[in-house]
This record gives sequence, structure tokens and C-alpha cells, in this order.
Amino acid sequence: MDVKNQIEHVKQAGVIADGPKRVLVIGASGGYGLASRITAAFGCGAATIGVFFERPAVKNRTASPGWYKSAAFTRAAEDAGLYAANLNGDAFSAELKQATIELIKKDLGQIDMVIYSLAAPARQLPDGSLVRSTLKPIGEPFEGATIDLNSGELRAVSLEPASQQEVNDTIKVMGGEDWELWMAALLAADVLAEGCITTNYTYLGSEVTWPIYYHGTIGKAKEDLDRAALALAQPLKKVNGRAYVAVMKGLMTQAASAIPGMSIYLSLLFKVMKAKGTHEGCIEQTTRLFKNMFVDSALQMDESGRLRMDDWELSDDIQTFVKANWSKVTAENLMEISDFAGYRQAFLQMHGFDFPGVDYEAEIDPEVLMPLAFGE
Ligand code: NAD
Repeated sequence: MDVKNQIEHVKQAGVIADGPKRVLVIGASGGYGLASRITAAFGCGAATIGVFFERPAVKNRTASPGWYKSAAFTRAAEDAGLYAANLNGDAFSAELKQATIELIKKDLGQIDMVIYSLAAPARQLPDGSLVRSTLKPIGEPFEGATIDLNSGELRAVSLEPASQQEVNDTIKVMGGEDWELWMAALLAADVLAEGCITTNYTYLGSEVTWPIYYHGTIGKAKEDLDRAALALAQPLKKVNGRAYVAVMKGLMTQAASAIPGMSIYLSLLFKVMKAKGTHEGCIEQTTRLFKNMFVDSALQMDESGRLRMDDWELSDDIQTFVKANWSKVTAENLMEISDFAGYRQAFLQMHGFDFPGVDYEAEIDPEVLMPLAFGE
């Protein structure tokens, strides 16, 4: 249902005639990556290759949400006559990069756009060791609150500052190094077409979340994306390519739901953006991004060369509301001053629940097959 709705949105937004025709999405099964893939396929008519790490159904245990979403996307793309191939495995590994290159050579020859939208809790290095990312403040402890999704109660969150090792590890997992490794491997294999574009997604957010996000461990990893985008300019000259970091809006995704304090911020944000008519989901964001890039040629860049898609989130009227209400939220007034109901619905829908018109009592077979070019 989620995928169907997203496809519908893209179709209604109209054809992006000059968009890319062969697109690789790394982190294609959820949030911004899935939405980017849907926009590329159904907006631009692109052949897409999706890389993700999802769990298929085993016996009576259901598959992960991203598995079902990718299977639904693949069916819809094939029904529309669009090429869609999937690789399920660890995007950090050299093996998966090589399998992707072989697939591109075999089926598409070259690609016009690489979207890197990975959000991973850990990264396995070639020597087998595992590096974990953390969501912690730097320098000072973080004292905040989070909302219990079931009870609607507020719970205090208190986090000690990260060690330098934890900062370095978060950069290793969520920074730009793996993006650079992908681009180097794709360039070396000569599978990037002339004028190829690559994008990576970042978040800056509001001052109220800076202590845990932008000024925290994840913020350091995001700074490293800016470094990587600049570093990629030189090697991409070989194909007249460009690397962009796009700043996206804060939204409920698997990755965002893990960030302490984000539930209050997003509930307030949804409230005021819906009231002003500027609320967007992932698909509205990626469709607007593609339109800016390929239809209007009106890229909104900041002084650091990042594409800004968080302009509506950071507008003065929105942020004034968020800041004024940030410290006023209680379990009692949550439903009035914030859109906690909308936030909770977004969480449920991310897992496939709470869609109107779906019979959740119906008997279904949890095993849904999906063609895979790699993995199982
Ligand atoms: P998400 O959790 O919805 O999706 C993450 C994707 O990464 C999934 O497809 C998952 O399968 C894939 N993945 C994770 N580990 C993998 C691995 N080892 N190998 C292969 N695939 C793997 O996340 P999201 O929120 O859409 O985040 C995507 C990017 O967008 C991140 O860089 C994030 O920081 C950024 N972003 C998110 C927000 C937000 O509010 N959600 C805002 C701005 C930017």
C-alpha cells in the first residue's frame, strides 16, 4: 500500500523527461532510498538497480518491511515495463560492489545516477571486525525526552558524551568513505556514463535537535559527507560527473526512529507543517529534488555546495512554532500541541500497519518472493 501510494504520487507529479534513465540506489528498500528509486522509475522511466540489506520470510516468521516494499516495487516496475534488479546483502562489502558492477555491465552497460542512501547501525570491515555507529552528544551530556509510542508517555533520556573512538567509529559507518569506495569501484570498472550524477543524503535540522544530531556523533559523520562530495569532484571529472550532498527534511524512517529526542521534534514539526500545508513525506521530497535537478534546473545550493530540500522545514514560521513549544510538551498536551497521532501513524505505516482499507485479519502467506541478482 505504501509503495502503491508513493507510485501514485510520482505519477501525479508528472513526467521528468530529462531525468536519468539508468539509476543505482544503494540503500533502496526504505525511507529516502526507496522514495528515490520510485521517483527515478515512475517519474523518469528509469531502469533501477536496488541494493539493500533485508530479511526474507522464514517459515512463519514475516520478512522485514523493506523486503515487502522492495518486492512490491519490483512487481509494479515490471508491470510498467521497467527494468528493476535487486541485490540483497552488505553494501559495505567488496563482494556486493563487484556483483553490482557485473550486473550493470551485463544488463545496462553504464549508469547515469548513483544514489547513496544507506543508514546502517554497523559496518563490517574487510578484516572481519565490526564498527558500530552511535547516536551520542559530543562534549556535554544530553538530557532530553522521548515519547513512548504505545503509552504516549514522556520518558527522560540522558546520554553521556561520546568518546573519540565512538566519534571515529560513527564516521566510519555513516561518513563518506564507503560512498567514495563505491564511486571508485564504479569508475574503475567504467560503468559510469558521461555526466553521471551521484547524491548522498544528509540532515541538519533545527537548533533544538543540534545537541543530539548536528553537533553529535552523527553530525560528525554527516560533515564527512561534505568532505567526500568535494573529494569526489576530482575522480568524477573522468566522466564529467558531479557529486552532491542533499539536505533532506526530518521524517519518520527506520533510521530516524532510533534518534533520541526526535519523536518530540517530529511530532511538533508535523503539526505545524501540516497546518501550513507544507508537510512532505519522503516521496514528496525526492520528487521535488528530482524536479529541481532535471526539470527546473533550479538547484537550491547553500554556501557549502549542498542541495537544500529542508527549506520548508527550516523556514522561520515553522521553527518559531517548534522552538516555542519544544519545552512545553507533556504527556497531557501531546495530542493538542503536537501531531503525535500523525507521528505514531507514520511509525505504524512504516511497518505496513494502519493503512485504511487493508484487512489485517485476512489470512496471508508471509512468504513473498522477489527476484534477486545477489543474496537470498
Ligand atoms: P532507512 O533506515 O529508511 O533506510 C536505510 C537503507 O539502508 C535501507 O534500504 C537498508 O536496507 C539499507 N541498509 C542498511 N544497512 C545496509 C547494509 N549494510 N548494506 C546494504 N544496505 C543497507 O533510512 P533513511 O532515513 O531513509 O536514511 C537514508 C539516508 O537519508 C541516511 O543518510 C540518512 O541520514 C538520510 N536522511 C534521513 C532523514 C530522516 O529524517 N529520515 C533526513 C535527512 C537525511
